[in-house]
Amino acid sequence: MPKHDMVIIGAGPGGYVAAIRAAQLGFDVACIEKETALGGTCVRVGCIPSKALLESSEHFVEAQTALKEHGVDVGKVKLNFKQMHERKDGVVKANTDGVAFLFKKNKVTRYEGSGEITAPGKVTVHGEEDTELEAEHIIIATGSSAAPLPNIEIGGLIGTSTEALTYEKVPKHLVVIGAGVIGLELGSVWNRLGAKVTVLEYLDRILPGMDAEIAKESQKIFKKQGLEFKLGSKVTGATTDGKGCTVEVEGMDAIKCDRVLVSTGRKPNTEGLGLENVGVKLDDKGRVKVNDQFQTNVKGIYAIGDVIEGPMLAHKAEEDGTACVELIKTGAGHVDYNLVPNIVYTDPEIASVGKTEEELKEAGIEYKKGVFPFMANGRARALGHTEGKAKILADATTDRVLGVHIVGHAAGDLIAEMVTSMAFSASSEDVARVVHAHPTLAEVVKEAALAVENRAIHI
Ligand code: FAD
Repeated sequence: MPKHDMVIIGAGPGGYVAAIRAAQLGFDVACIEKETALGGTCVRVGCIPSKALLESSEHFVEAQTALKEHGVDVGKVKLNFKQMHERKDGVVKANTDGVAFLFKKNKVTRYEGSGEITAPGKVTVHGEEDTELEAEHIIIATGSSAAPLPNIEIGGLIGTSTEALTYEKVPKHLVVIGAGVIGLELGSVWNRLGAKVTVLEYLDRILPGMDAEIAKESQKIFKKQGLEFKLGSKVTGATTDGKGCTVEVEGMDAIKCDRVLVSTGRKPNTEGLGLENVGVKLDDKGRVKVNDQFQTNVKGIYAIGDVIEGPMLAHKAEEDGTACVELIKTGAGHVDYNLVPNIVYTDPEIASVGKTEEELKEAGIEYKKGVFPFMANGRARALGHTEGKAKILADATTDRVLGVHIVGHAAGDLIAEMVTSMAFSASSEDVARVVHAHPTLAEVVKEAALAVENRAIHI
């Protein structure tokens, strides 16, 4: 029976990063992955292919609109859909191959097949043939899958994000159920490529959980881009006859469309893992229950990433993986869950970290607020990306930054400065007094920090 110090089940950003870090720390590590390609949801059917399509579709729109304004006339723009998909597949392959290369480089042993924990310290790989492994430490990193909606059967023209990354032609009318990150990103892709996109959302707002003011501003921008929103819509069913789809919404006429994208959330992957063989407990949401050291209730079994509590994000999974193996090795390791940035890769991007205004109000925390529009920033004007604003929330007494919310060009990159600042407990004055190069979009953040004390210069 092959024996390793550590066996990790799942090679997504949680599992593969944990495997590499563990190898760096001197462990003999094995990683079991049931898919042929490594990298998990993120690399195969999540972050990476969606960002590739977002980039390509953005260029398609730019070539038709923004380039003209720059004095670049490209004539009639045509969509080469096949090339767009091929590029996306190439980007995915480069990333999955990259993980395989890193496994080799770090001497991580890879097992292809489905992992099942059979007893504490024992895992069976169900591959071409069954292989039993022994390990002192087992890490569950099996991630998540798209959550189904009651009354909607996934299949054919009704699919999840995975199908929406591979449509073979641009649908005339796409109905997106759920106005969260995935629905808005993929809805934007198909809207840019020419589909009519209707987004149905049960709540009365988009991007639940994000700062309401920023979500509202974003919705206005998306509306201008052509996305149609029907908020407060309770979808009661969706069917397809193979040629088109019908979506039933409470109190509304049924909507006929070509395709349906169900993007209402994700559920942890815990089935077939053998958790019942060893008595690993789940929480009330079906996630593997862990303590603050990623330990389950069974000694030697740990869990990280989407399969445990916390935001379902690749960078959170990566940090879990690193902290988990460092804790096992050294007893020290930590993730600050208050400082996990959240980014929506639409155009413009939306990015946030820390508390929203709603959360501060609910917690009764007194705060000051500084807001600065991209419109008043020289670089934004030169780039032709003037939509959006940055908002900084700081403690009313101490001035410590408590939350930052941005909708605007490159918001996903701009937020990094604020995550770092908050990690070092910066005040809004600290951020305002740091020299920011001119002309940069980063000056929007600096001016928002100045605006906390009503001393922004350019508005
Ligand atoms: P996963 O990436 O889900 O990996 C788990 C792996 O375990 C999978 O490869 C699975 O095949 C394997 N596995 C499961 N069960 C077994 C078993 N029994 N045996 C062996 N292997 C098993 N996050 C971001 O931070 N930024 C983004 O831009 C972003 N965009 C996204 C876009 C889409 C369309 C989707 C769907 C998700 C996106 N996410 C994004 C979320 C991100 O993909 C996940 O948070 C992240 O992949 C979670 O990492 P993980 O390692 O926990 O799990």
